[in-house]
Amino acid sequence: MPSFLKNGEKEKKQPLVYKLDLTRIQGDGEFPCPNCGVTISPEDETEDVYCILETKVDGQALEELIVQCNKCASQIRLIGFHILRGHCVAC
Ligand SMILES: [Zn+2]
Repeated sequence: MPSFLKNGEKEKKQPLVYKLDLTRIQGDGEFPCPNCGVTISPEDETEDVYCILETKVDGQALEELIVQCNKCASQIRLIGFHILRGHCVAC
């Protein structure tokens, strides 16, 4: 048995999790689902295409967002939000 599987857990229960760096995305933040290719737009607030599972905030700034594609149930972990703020937070 592969070591990443815990006792009694079936592999099918584990959702696919992708990591997406926003600094590599061109444009206004839209991106295709890494699994099924559906367009996920931050402007879309209907939750038809995706829903937000978790937000991680560092102070006042968004640091990480975990969304789930409603079409294929993949989870996508979004990082790199600092570029959307227009300045380097480390400086
Ligand atoms: Zn998908």
